[in-house]
Amino acid sequence: MSTFKAPKGTYDLIPPDSAAYLAVREAIAAPLRRAGYGYAETPGFENVELFSRGVGESTDIVTKEMYTLTTKGGDELALRPEGTASVLRAALEANLHKAGNLPVKLWYSGSYYRYERPQAGRYRHFSQVGAEAIGAEDPALDAELVILAVDAYRSLGLRNFRLLLNSLGDKECRPVYRAALQDFLRGLDLDEDTRRRIDINPLRVLDDKRESVQKQLAGAPMMRDHLCEACRTYHEQVRELLTAAGVSFEDDPKLVRGLDYYTRTTFEFVHDGLGSQSAVGGGGRYDGLSEMIGGPSLPSVGWALGVDRTVLALRAEGVELDLPAVTQVYAVPLGEEARRTLFGLVTELRRAGVATDFAYGGKGLKNAMKSANRSGARLALVAGERDLAEGVVQLKDLDSGEQRAVPAAEAVTAVRSALG
Ligand code: ATP
Ligand code: MG
Repeated sequence: MSTFKAPKGTYDLIPPDSAAYLAVREAIAAPLRRAGYGYAETPGFENVELFSRGVGESTDIVTKEMYTLTTKGGDELALRPEGTASVLRAALEANLHKAGNLPVKLWYSGSYYRYERPQAGRYRHFSQVGAEAIGAEDPALDAELVILAVDAYRSLGLRNFRLLLNSLGDKECRPVYRAALQDFLRGLDLDEDTRRRIDINPLRVLDDKRESVQKQLAGAPMMRDHLCEACRTYHEQVRELLTAAGVSFEDDPKLVRGLDYYTRTTFEFVHDGLGSQSAVGGGGRYDGLSEMIGGPSLPSVGWALGVDRTVLALRAEGVELDLPAVTQVYAVPLGEEARRTLFGLVTELRRAGVATDFAYGGKGLKNAMKSANRSGARLALVAGERDLAEGVVQLKDLDSGEQRAVPAAEAVTAVRSALG
């Protein structure tokens, strides 16, 4: 038999670890549901132009990280590297923005694919939960999304995350700033690749992680000193709303993020327990994206939080999630008749909402009790022929070892009250 391994840069989610991933997804989704975001699901692949236009031709995601393929029918597709372009495409295609109720608020959860150099916290297949509010320009909407992300992290018990905040300006002030930055960058001692970046995407140079580059950026012009009046006021309001909601942030004038479509509000959540893969989530306003992919003008804002890195951050902080018990009750039948009776009780208990499992495979008492203990159940239901003859089953507390007979007809009630 050959042994298969998961492809490089990927890993499988299997019990017991998978439970934490589900819990993180649910915890991120819960505040969104309470804030009027509806669930959206789009295909795992899209026409490649959606991302080359939407994410940006000059970004690392499009130039280096995208998985592209040609189908047998000749279509050029890409596995989705991010969610925003797809969700906006889906909203435009369904004309959600014409239904008259703007912003259109959507959330999503799923797998994303980037051909990256695999390392701790950086995978080729990873998982995000994201949210987009499409078609409204309002600082309260930017603030809402940031607050919902903070509330999600807090509800998980995460503490050591920081919010970095910046404004990238708009189509009035950004081009002026861009030109000033290009002038500055052209005077620096940079390698050829970086010099090319000056022409196509100069803001990304600010994001360069190398010490040699960062040192030279000391006197670089900053967007925040070039914001137009409208952008400055907008940003000030976002900051005030966050502060009023008890959300602290750090102004990071160099925060640009890896996608081309951001305007005005930009933010990133970082966690200090994750080494160099410190970003647990990020997002911002993307007022020009709809037009870039052929839609009408729809100012929008959104974020995506990384599920994998959030799980790693929780581990780094030693947070124990309050996960529901996989099995609360384990049923151990001794003999054929007991199998039928207890299997019936198992079904009844499950229908009553109690997580219940059963000793399958005709195990003997000793092995069945071992399985009961391994299952993590608090209670065992045990029954043999004599019990059945008396119309009872044995209810055993697996922590204390105490056992008592309860009438079979009252077993469900007895189990529920024993579980408290
Ligand atoms: P980074 O700077 O670490 O490459 P990014 O800016 O590319 O992150 P985004 O595109 O903003 O990330 O995606 C949002 C979140 O998704 C990130 O904050 C991170 O938590 C997660 N993420 C992005 N790429 C990966 C990856 N390759 N593996 C695991 N998680 C990822
Ligand atoms: Mg990246």
